[in-house]
Amino acid sequence: MATAAETAPAPAEKPAKPRVSERPANTEGQVLVVEYHRITPQEARWDRSIERFKADLKRLYEMGFRPVTLRQYIDNDMDLPPGASPVVFTWDDSDVTQFRILDDGTIDPNSGVGIWQEFAKEHPDFPVRASFYILPPTRWGQAKWFDRKMELLKEWGCEVGSHTISHGNLKKMTDEQVKKEFAESIDFIEGYGFECTSLALPFGIAPQNAQLLREFEYNGKKYGFRAALLVGANPAPPSTSDKFDPYRIPRIQAIEGLNGINFWLDKVESGEVQVYVEP
Ligand SMILES: [Zn+2]
Repeated sequence: MATAAETAPAPAEKPAKPRVSERPANTEGQVLVVEYHRITPQEARWDRSIERFKADLKRLYEMGFRPVTLRQYIDNDMDLPPGASPVVFTWDDSDVTQFRILDDGTIDPNSGVGIWQEFAKEHPDFPVRASFYILPPTRWGQAKWFDRKMELLKEWGCEVGSHTISHGNLKKMTDEQVKKEFAESIDFIEGYGFECTSLALPFGIAPQNAQLLREFEYNGKKYGFRAALLVGANPAPPSTSDKFDPYRIPRIQAIEGLNGINFWLDKVESGEVQVYVEP
């Protein structure tokens, strides 16, 4: 009969994760923060087609990108396998095409989240992990499923951030109006148990008083963001770089053509753009 010592499991040694690309380690390389709005049958200026979104997932995966949240990126806490490069998926405006639940309670396989889940079934090392910048009045177009969606996102380790309440031009607002937009959106998101640490600036436009992004008081309570996202149009420096400005993080739009996602992935492939690569 085996003794307890013989049957005890061997001391846990973390199995080395396989290297996911041949790119050499580069912790000073750029980070791709990509930006999606709507996922639709036909491509349009602010709409990514279903087919192209599928192709984005596939190309990013095959090039050794793995998803991290914006917070993991700004904290340099990305937990990547060796050889992997981070990609931050950001979703603005909480449109229903991003995340739709069907009448039977299942996730629409043609919505952004559904497409990604399907992809992740085949590629479990590319799970649904993203940062959603929501508009409380829109709430993914399905008020009755909103709580469930927030619950699922939390369960999957996604992040939810502010995109304000009214999606107005912050530069044209008074300080008081800006504070209200920020505070109410933060309270709304935190009411669902998320920590709201970042903001996607509507139209990429910051308020006149940029200090309000960092810190302010509203109705006797302290608020602030640790990061703010612009709209365009290039890769971002790593958060450890001197060039990193957390309140002006550039993003790459999920569009075709100049400065779009494939434009930048081509440059990564050709070596013209050096991306962050986990040692
Ligand atoms: Zn927006």
